[in-house]
Amino acid sequence: MEYRRFGKTNKEISVITLGGMRYKKGWDSPRDELPQESIDNCLEITDHALKEGINHIETAYGYGKSENLYGLVLDELKVDRNSYCIMTKGTASTGDEMRARVDDQLKSLRLDKIDFYGYHGINNLEIFNQATKENGPVEALLELKEEGVIGSVGFSTHADVKIILDTIMTDMFDFMNLHFYYFFQRNLAAVELAKHKDMGVFIISPNEKGGKLFNPSQKVADICSPLSPIQFNARFCLSHSQITTLSFGLNELDHFKELDGMFNNELYLNGSDRKIKLELDNCVNELGDSYCTTCGDCMPCPEDINIPEILRFRNMSKAYDMIDFGKFRYNMLESKGHWFPGTYGNACTDCGDCLPKCPVQLNIPELLRSTHQELFIEK
Ligand code: SF4
Ligand code: SF4
Repeated sequence: MEYRRFGKTNKEISVITLGGMRYKKGWDSPRDELPQESIDNCLEITDHALKEGINHIETAYGYGKSENLYGLVLDELKVDRNSYCIMTKGTASTGDEMRARVDDQLKSLRLDKIDFYGYHGINNLEIFNQATKENGPVEALLELKEEGVIGSVGFSTHADVKIILDTIMTDMFDFMNLHFYYFFQRNLAAVELAKHKDMGVFIISPNEKGGKLFNPSQKVADICSPLSPIQFNARFCLSHSQITTLSFGLNELDHFKELDGMFNNELYLNGSDRKIKLELDNCVNELGDSYCTTCGDCMPCPEDINIPEILRFRNMSKAYDMIDFGKFRYNMLESKGHWFPGTYGNACTDCGDCLPKCPVQLNIPELLRSTHQELFIEK
């Protein structure tokens, strides 16, 4: 296992992180009642991950039973507190609420210190303003850092890249969690700015939201062979030296075979990896002049349609046969609030606002309608 410095936190952490949001029955409420099935699952996976050399565990207040599971399991396994780092996340409206939330989380985790605390989900301007306001929740986190209760303060985000850049520029944060992987590279500017600011960079969900890669399309599997799509994607991410670690949703022993000999401080994206990348890159040529570059210039849409994201799903389903992934993500629209904003493509009124803004002159309304037809699942 390779270890990288997590930016100015100055901690050396494994390039693979054990994420904690997918344990069996982990989302059933209440969060502090732990079924044996969840405990057994978390115990087995955590034990195995630590033996594999993973020394970074990630959770959040919002991940159901996850914090309580880790609190119990790390105790039961008698893991030396100095042998791993733990990241958790949370939100609050005020500084006092933030302190109360952290207090709660420490109890769930059975710890007296959290190594990395991320403000969870700076996903739009309103949340950015609320989180970073004077005497607000992030300032409370920074005070807790001064007091030694938190090691480093960061943020997680699903926002547009402009908001991410603004958040980095506050200089309030030591690390950042964001989406960036082979099938979604729009946040590269944020990754680069974070490097310039010496922040740790944590990649959210490269395997699941990164393309449902535990169940890849046959086409992607064939192109990535002899690597698995998960391995190729992870090596692509890690070929960016500014990226520290990737959250792997490991929740079955079988998932660990993805790590075999893959992340050992070698030159990622070497000759054979590059060949895979080139072949994947070339697939988008199949879209001809209907390829959306996902530049975002067409936004905003008065109907709040997330045009680049919907057309990205179209790109992926046409170029890579990733129809399952497209359906999985497309049907999350209109149900996840600020975590995944925007309306379905069929909300288009043909107002035409977006058309002159598209540098490649796509017929956006038509593409949105056909994508809706292909990916929408009637509830
Ligand atoms: S034409 Fe459709 S997609 Fe384009 S801005 Fe108008 S409503 Fe939005
Ligand atoms: S402006 Fe055109 S190419 Fe850019 S995201 Fe919008 S539709 Fe895609």
